[in-house]
Amino acid sequence: MGLQLFDSKEQQLRDFVPLKAGVVEMYVCGPTVQSAPHLGHLRSALVYDLLRRWLKATGLEVILVRNVTDIDDKVLVNAGSRDWLEFAREVEQTFIDAYNNLWILEPTHAPHATEHIDDMIALTKKLIDRGHAYQAEDGSANVFFHSASWPSYGELTNQKLENMEGEPESSFGRRSPQDFALFKAHKPEEPESAAWQTPWGLARPGWHIECSAMAKHFLGEAFDIHGGGLDLRFPHHENELAQSRAAGDHFANFWLHNALVTINGSKMSKSSGNGVSVEELLEQGSWAAIRYWLVSAQYRSNLDYTKASIKDAQAALERIVGFIKRVGATGKDVDLTKLPEDFIQAMNADLNTPLALAVLHESVRAGNTAFDNGDSKEVEAQVEAVKAMIHVLGLSKAYQEPEVSKEFKAQIEELIAKRQQAKTAKDFNTADKIRAELEGLGVIIKDLPNETIWSING
Ligand SMILES: [Zn+2]
Repeated sequence: MGLQLFDSKEQQLRDFVPLKAGVVEMYVCGPTVQSAPHLGHLRSALVYDLLRRWLKATGLEVILVRNVTDIDDKVLVNAGSRDWLEFAREVEQTFIDAYNNLWILEPTHAPHATEHIDDMIALTKKLIDRGHAYQAEDGSANVFFHSASWPSYGELTNQKLENMEGEPESSFGRRSPQDFALFKAHKPEEPESAAWQTPWGLARPGWHIECSAMAKHFLGEAFDIHGGGLDLRFPHHENELAQSRAAGDHFANFWLHNALVTINGSKMSKSSGNGVSVEELLEQGSWAAIRYWLVSAQYRSNLDYTKASIKDAQAALERIVGFIKRVGATGKDVDLTKLPEDFIQAMNADLNTPLALAVLHESVRAGNTAFDNGDSKEVEAQVEAVKAMIHVLGLSKAYQEPEVSKEFKAQIEELIAKRQQAKTAKDFNTADKIRAELEGLGVIIKDLPNETIWSING
């Protein structure tokens, strides 16, 4: 059986068939770059990275758009007295760094909202022309989507208009509480650089219209998959869908929503103070272990973080890496035709990663047993299968030696040993200098409890 995905609009598993043969077009809501990434952001980006890798493994080309919301109330507030766009770019870099460290492939397109204002104006104009949007009753540059004008409003989350909460009716010139902003009039207390000349006056776009406009710009009127975190389903995705359909576009053919990350069983939130930073995760294990942990739950299940999560993931990963190293295999020449049938079926079943990982570990066990028994043919078969599986899961970098010359490797290891000596002698000044020297060579080091590991930057 081929790939089945759970379409959260239809609330059922559907056979996935791309609209255009051989190509999958995907739009994933990216971050609002207001503060550094938390676990929920990382999980969401990783889930769609995994889907993309699986689609590619099955022979499909994937075009992935993941936007960057760089203009938003919270960006302006958090920038404080700083230049907001510079602030937004800085925060964006923390996301890019985390994505790179987790080996999340770069999207085909990563558009900034501020670079597509014209697309948003064009879409808003179209909605006004079609009678689905209006300029604020108070004559300001606010423009609203008129939810009651679109009979299917609520179709994504199966809600009726009259049951939905909304804003106070009269606020900012809206006609009814469920109407939402397409453009927001410039406020005098906000920097002028955060407003654009529109047909309705100086204004900046609302969040929802950004995604509809950028999806259309890159993927056209219809595309295969729209993804995002479950927390974006309403109102963000409901509003995206309403706008795009009301403008005459088909929009997404499948809606995918990944579940959230919980901390010790409770919802993660800033207010409850249980957020976990990337630094805290790295104290428990490597980036590879973090990726392994993020992959370990099926994407529609909540992923619970506990103190042991990353350590357990590290141990599981080391069993896999240990097998590959033990039998003297290298990371080269991955052959995807060696993927076990059970693994393929698990991935095709709406990305059942817990099952896929179970198949992987079964292969590792069988490979180790074969190695103990001197069955080199079986070892070869299992190691090829393991390599193919971890390639698909995006974990192969965990065991690949960086491609550097022997001399360079020796030089780095000597410096690391010297730094260790300096640290033992509590000569932290020298230790820091050696770290800086290593960085100058493009080498990033990381101290684990019993060893220092290194990688080549980029
Ligand atoms: Zn979006």
